[in-house]
Amino acid sequence: MNLRRRQCSPPFAMKRIYLDNAATTPLCEEAEKAMLPLFREVFGNADSRHYYGRESAKLLASARADIAECLNASPEEIYFTSGGTESDNWAVKCAAFGKGRVAVSAAEHPAVFESAKALRSRGTELTVIPVDGECFVSVSEAEKLMTEDTALVSVMTANNETGSVQPVTELASMAHSYGALFHTDAVQAAGSLPLDVKASGADMLSLSAHKFGGPKGFGVLYVKNGVRLGAFHSGGEQERGRRGGTSDTAGAVGAAAALKAAVARMREESARVRALKDAFAARVLRDIPGAVLHGSLDAERTLPGIVNFGFEGITGEELLFSLDLDGLCVSNGSACSAGSAEPSRTLMAMGLSAAEAKGAVRFSFGVMNGEEDAEAAFVILKRAVERLRGL
Ligand code: PLP
Repeated sequence: MNLRRRQCSPPFAMKRIYLDNAATTPLCEEAEKAMLPLFREVFGNADSRHYYGRESAKLLASARADIAECLNASPEEIYFTSGGTESDNWAVKCAAFGKGRVAVSAAEHPAVFESAKALRSRGTELTVIPVDGECFVSVSEAEKLMTEDTALVSVMTANNETGSVQPVTELASMAHSYGALFHTDAVQAAGSLPLDVKASGADMLSLSAHKFGGPKGFGVLYVKNGVRLGAFHSGGEQERGRRGGTSDTAGAVGAAAALKAAVARMREESARVRALKDAFAARVLRDIPGAVLHGSLDAERTLPGIVNFGFEGITGEELLFSLDLDGLCVSNGSACSAGSAEPSRTLMAMGLSAAEAKGAVRFSFGVMNGEEDAEAAFVILKRAVERLRGL
């Protein structure tokens, strides 16, 4: 199937290049096909006892089983949510509420970081685990900060701004040795890296469907059997009483179809996307004076598609604006903080100054990009940098 041909024809007169796949991805064909009948034909409430309800319940159960299989989990360990943000809030707030301490990395997405901070007002202490200049957490540095009262450690599988992949298996084992639970936000990793909750030892793991070709507004929280996690939503008995509210069967079916498809083509697609990113990054570093890489290009320790650059003397805002005018769609870090005047907390934690952090631009390659996009993106970027420098 030619994904690029299908997806790379947006209804704009100008040819646009989308290098913002870390912000969101288009719905993949598999998800679209699986979801369509659910809007008008199999539309029943999965809790209704009649035919329509039973049909919907069957699809919900099968989506849960498919997602569990992709994570090497059991279906009863899979909870459906409204997205990565809710999954992270649920895991962090409910696992650490009223407990002594929660430890999170300095590079966490706000859904984790702000959840952990919110707990402080209820008396839970916060430990911030540092990242190094390439945005990696060191297990030995993290261990130095562990205390007996730490109830939860939350470190993301891969970072949304730099693509750095964290040593979650080692961190989970370290957290367990102190009697703490371990949660990982795998929102950016899903579909790009193999995820195996049994092998990693994670107690909880968050996913968001729209990052891997599924629908927006649908997420997953894996909760290992035996972990006592309170209900986040009160209401009905859905999600085994832990998250009330009418089930989004179409969302679940779309998420499952997208995750299965992404996992099936992961090896081939990750290699293809990484080659595009590496070629683009190499040209930027070679041919654009004053280009600075924020993070790493180490293939063993980064996501295939994300690379983050700054360009001396240029702010991220002006560069984004200029690139957009020329048809190149990128972002300055996480979409959630776009428009925020604050420099990225993650980049500052890596040692960048506020001015350097404000100059950062994230390029994230994905399923809809080909070599011609990487080539054209480089040309547009070089021209924009020269123009902004008055050259
Ligand atoms: N966690 C990470 C690492 C993310 O990149 C994002 C989205 O950008 C989220 C959580 C939030 O996910 P959602 O958009 O589904 O709420």
